[in-house]
Amino acid sequence: MTSGNPFEIAQRQLDDCARILDLDPGVHAILRQPMREMHLALPVRMDDGSVQVFPAYRVQYNDAKGPTKGGIRFHPEETIDTVRALAAWMTWKCALLDLPLGGGKGGVICNPKSLSRNELERLSRAYARAFAPFIGPDVDVPAPDVYTNPQIMAWMMDEYSKVLHKNAFGVLTGKPLCVGGSAGRGDATARGGLITIREAAGILGLDLSRARIAIQGYGNAGYYAAALARSEFGSTIVAVSDSRGGVYHPTGIDPDVALAHKQATGSVAGLPGAQPIANGDLLELDVDVLIPAALEQVITGENAGRVKARILAELANGPTTPEADEILDANGVHVIPDFLCNAGGVTVSYFEMVQNNAMFYWEESEVHQRLDQRMTLAYHRVLEAAQRYGVTMRQAAYAVAVSTVAEAMQLRGWV
Ligand code: GLU
Repeated sequence: MTSGNPFEIAQRQLDDCARILDLDPGVHAILRQPMREMHLALPVRMDDGSVQVFPAYRVQYNDAKGPTKGGIRFHPEETIDTVRALAAWMTWKCALLDLPLGGGKGGVICNPKSLSRNELERLSRAYARAFAPFIGPDVDVPAPDVYTNPQIMAWMMDEYSKVLHKNAFGVLTGKPLCVGGSAGRGDATARGGLITIREAAGILGLDLSRARIAIQGYGNAGYYAAALARSEFGSTIVAVSDSRGGVYHPTGIDPDVALAHKQATGSVAGLPGAQPIANGDLLELDVDVLIPAALEQVITGENAGRVKARILAELANGPTTPEADEILDANGVHVIPDFLCNAGGVTVSYFEMVQNNAMFYWEESEVHQRLDQRMTLAYHRVLEAAQRYGVTMRQAAYAVAVSTVAEAMQLRGWV
């Protein structure tokens, strides 16, 4: 999935932050490692009667601020180090948004595109059953991520509920609405990211109604980012892509037409009326806003110098390497770092947990308003820290998040 080791990158970013904050060495040592991780093997009966064993992980990185929280990814190139890095980033994400949660992440090495619906259900249930002793509303609360979705969350919640012999809706988030989901969770990651883009554009004096936007990745985050940028801001989506290829249209792509094409053919590639564009070339387009919304390490020391966007809004987790960061900074690209930009998903997941606990569900407008409030505040806290410490937006996001977790650890007497 990635070239460099993502967990080493996460550790380097933390080391950099420890230097900026002059962090207590005990706090630093604790935060450099996951608190706990589970490696399990999931035997699953396939449709042809054979049994396949899927390696599965759950990393609970740090729970000083509350139960660990984070998605589960189904991906053929998943690695434990990717899951560790993502669990660390969830810790910083929850702290930055001031959620009463720690960070965690899960993963299964599998190719969901080659599984039938029944096989996918059996794998999802196997995950929930095997990890049931280690997760729970007060312990560790999973959610969807790359190639997992609300249906998978419903199966997992159901399996966990069966193990416990009671309905346990709060065990995970991102569920469908009628089984304990929250209004507004579906597009929350993209909506949160667009709020940070709106704030950044305000600071930079960029008129979003005239902005040209390119989006890499057309899953849940990428599609909604395209649709909302057009409907809320009136921006022009000039390019979109997915793992199979991309399309470019100088006067604009209709996000819903691109989605319908992807649903019909399996990819946005080949969208009628648009020109083909390679994933790598999309990142270098002359646009105002570039949104990586797929996987890690796509902007590297090699291509960062050719990024022309004014705003790089990281809806994906970990799309930019530390080498790229230095180049982007020198070139004056305004980076909205991943665990700020894509924090809308976990923020509405937190709202889902609150609603599950209260057994009382909010209107979508209330979710939107509370999400806007938290994302706007987080953006400005990071901007203010960047100015105060004279550092990049990513370093500033780290400074705010890590000092929050450090304070919780100190108050709990861990250090
Ligand atoms: N997987 C999403 C993320 O990376 C959401 C996590 C959650 O809702 O817990 O932030």
